[in-house]
Amino acid sequence: MAVIDTPDDAHAFITVLDPRNRERLVISPVWVPSRGELRYPRSVTYTFISGGDYVAMAKVFRKYAVEKGYYRSLKEKIALNPNAERIVGAPLVKLWIMDRYPWTGCAARAPGGERIPLLKVRTTYRQVQEILRDMRENLGIDRAVILLAGWGPMGYDNLHPDVWPPGRWAGDFSELREARDIAERQGYLFGLHDNYQDIYLESPSIGVGEPIVKTREVAGVGHPLQLGGVWEGGQAFIVCSKCGLKFAKRNIPQVLSELAPTCYFVDTTTAAPLYECYDAEHPTTRSEDKEYKIELLKYLNDCNLVTGSESGVYWAAKHLHYAEGIMRLESDGWFGKFGGIPAPLFNLVYHDSIVAYWHQGQPHNSSRRLARVKLLLDLLYGNPTSWNFTVETYREWREQLREAFETASRLHREIAADEMVSHRFLTDDYLVQESEFSSGVKIIVNFGEREYVTPEGDRVEPMGFLVKRRANKP
Ligand SMILES: [Zn+2]
Repeated sequence: MAVIDTPDDAHAFITVLDPRNRERLVISPVWVPSRGELRYPRSVTYTFISGGDYVAMAKVFRKYAVEKGYYRSLKEKIALNPNAERIVGAPLVKLWIMDRYPWTGCAARAPGGERIPLLKVRTTYRQVQEILRDMRENLGIDRAVILLAGWGPMGYDNLHPDVWPPGRWAGDFSELREARDIAERQGYLFGLHDNYQDIYLESPSIGVGEPIVKTREVAGVGHPLQLGGVWEGGQAFIVCSKCGLKFAKRNIPQVLSELAPTCYFVDTTTAAPLYECYDAEHPTTRSEDKEYKIELLKYLNDCNLVTGSESGVYWAAKHLHYAEGIMRLESDGWFGKFGGIPAPLFNLVYHDSIVAYWHQGQPHNSSRRLARVKLLLDLLYGNPTSWNFTVETYREWREQLREAFETASRLHREIAADEMVSHRFLTDDYLVQESEFSSGVKIIVNFGEREYVTPEGDRVEPMGFLVKRRANKP
């Protein structure tokens, strides 16, 4: 096993030379220049594991992460911020407030090809209040991470980082604040989906491009601006992390004093690659970019906010309470329909450190066909569940939310502080799998179409699961 000790300016090159010959998978480290030079000694550590598999490799990395300071247990995070205890057993419920596709070219990207000429309110703040009350009073849900998306002045992925005060399209600020207060009374975490890495042409803070990452000089051109993706607000540019931190420190004190959220989500911070910036005012190497991103997460931690970001990455593990997108399928396919068989590598390293949620594009409610698969994966990997609702889809899926809460959240309360100690495939077709946690809880999941019988005679029905506890456990 190879661990790249200097990973900020490195890639792993992975290729299959002959796809018909499964043994010819080639993985090698690639050193990339830092600001055009090798600049510092590069290092990779090879560890030889006798008879080891992906679980043994994950455990080698876990030890490495602990030694190098890339690990903090959820228990320690709770000691630093007692509010973080509320994430234990909490399904992630993202509530979608408003969309806006200002550019003709983006309208085609709206869900289902829907044309949204200017803006569309998906959920009003009063409807958020109703959903929260229904979750507690009628569904019996006493834990949840509530994140609002699209609450900004022009809806989702528009105008970042100039997002305060929130939009009035979905209701008055007092109604938003009341939603927060209801969440607080019900013991839920409540926060905002925000972003400090993307900026749009309409964002006042874009100026004439000052805060944008400047890429390496092109002769005769200068330093081109670093483009981001094309999202709802149109073409995004990448904000230099040094400037992003300043924008966060400008916004968050106001957000805290007016809305008093208990959690927060910074989109893309831990999902995007590290950037070099050649701006004379705020130059960064990739390592410095990483340090500014860590500073942003630390700042949110210091504001007593239960902190999350997208995808999740080892260097952020110490400061993330949760991450959206640790759980993700390559497409909305499943076995045989995409190029691999999922194994819980991140969970084997960080289960007792970061709560793993599905990416917002693949929540349980994104597909009727895969909802059960996602629930079984969450049980197997020891996660609470993930949902992404408008008021309409909430009404369609609330019963499934309740059922998932009763199974997955109950289990998560038992094992949230446990290390995931092993995972294995029990059948040759990989469809029956078992995970084991440090308190002795074992979960067997059957993704197959036939009943599975354990050596002890326990039966696991098709698309069913079995939780086994140590006999001496009360
Ligand atoms: Zn910069």
